[in-house]
Amino acid sequence: MKRLILLGATGSVGASALDLVARNPDRFAVEALTAGQDWRRLAELARAHRPAVAAIADEAALPALREALAGTGIATAAGAAALVEVASRPADLVLAAIVGAAGLPPVLAAVERGTPVALANKEALVCAGALMTAAAARSGAALLPVDSEHNAIFQVLEAKERVARITLTASGGPFRTRSLAEMARVTPEEAVRHPTWSMGAKISVDSATLMNKGLELIEAFHLFGLRPDQLGVLVHPQSLVHGLVEYVDGSVLAQLGPADMRVPIAHALAWPERIATPVERLCLATAGRLEFEAPDRARFPALALAEAALAEGGCRPCVLNAANEVAVAAFLDRCIGFTEIAALVEAVLAAQPRCAPASLAEVYAIDAEARARARQLVAGRRARSFAAHRQRR
Ligand code: NAD
Ligand code: MG
Repeated sequence: MKRLILLGATGSVGASALDLVARNPDRFAVEALTAGQDWRRLAELARAHRPAVAAIADEAALPALREALAGTGIATAAGAAALVEVASRPADLVLAAIVGAAGLPPVLAAVERGTPVALANKEALVCAGALMTAAAARSGAALLPVDSEHNAIFQVLEAKERVARITLTASGGPFRTRSLAEMARVTPEEAVRHPTWSMGAKISVDSATLMNKGLELIEAFHLFGLRPDQLGVLVHPQSLVHGLVEYVDGSVLAQLGPADMRVPIAHALAWPERIATPVERLCLATAGRLEFEAPDRARFPALALAEAALAEGGCRPCVLNAANEVAVAAFLDRCIGFTEIAALVEAVLAAQPRCAPASLAEVYAIDAEARARARQLVAGRRARSFAAHRQRR
């Protein structure tokens, strides 16, 4: 029996994981569940899965959560510190499925304690990868990739000395064939409508800009310990081949599977074993064609920004991630246009000084400064377009 702590249980990855947990009651028991704000959904999940504790980041939601779980014997807690405490409880595996850098403190707490972590929360690794992998090396905590591409690589990876190159595939997102001019006018609704995967809003927008693939290159760099020039991206619209490893002898091993997150989640939850999943089986005869093309960095500049941040290292990935989180939220709030996401990230990167964070406190400071700068730019942009609108009237 594996005891699981699920961070971000109310999200898309959390739902897929709990679906697998419910199908395998003899294998998994839930120690703790956490959520950001949605206390109703958290209480529902807690009633269904009976964890020892349910914790919510939003402190204002605690009374409602407590009331919703009254009489169940399930302990409740709230606030960022409570999430860190929950992630530090004894368990066999922590699923890190919070979205954004907000997930870093609890993930790091689990890693420092030595608990194996099934990692979906790529932003945590992007902004503090060196600290996280150093903590994992000290404690012996395994980092098991949940991100489908990284999970694919993990499944076919031998000793890294034998690896020439790894390739992450990208669906290309909903705007793969659109021009820049067309992309300037797309709505949040169009951007979150992913052609092959069903995911949370933030990662869906990241997939549409290809920032997601850029964040994933940085994630792969930390997970697999290769050089940046050994990491590549290939656009593959069918999303059936998830990752490829080329070995020094010219052999290429790839992992294939249906575009259903329950496959990599099941792999990470059950590792080193495998469990059955109810996903639709991959049928290549039905799939027919598998297409591949190089990514277009002119139409998708976010990918190039992330590649440059990876090559430069230091604080650049953290700045990139923080600016992107603000930009994506602003786009979803209709404050900026789709193509302004990458422009905003680029402007923040240009404005922030280069440095190499040596501690978690420094990572938080860099993240906070980059966010503040990005918000300033969003506010300025809003004021300008408001003034322009008034002039037109
Ligand atoms: P989601 O938006 O559906 O869910 C996010 C979860 O995090 C929710 O439980 C939410 O309550 C919680 N949360 C949000 N803000 C929080 C905060 N400030 N403090 C604490 N909790 C907070 O996101 P998702 O699509 O499930 O993605 C989760 C992570 O997994 C992301 O890092 C994403 O990049 C990664 N990922 C997702 C998929 C996918 O298919 N959805 C695939 C690969 C990787
Ligand atoms: Mg992915």
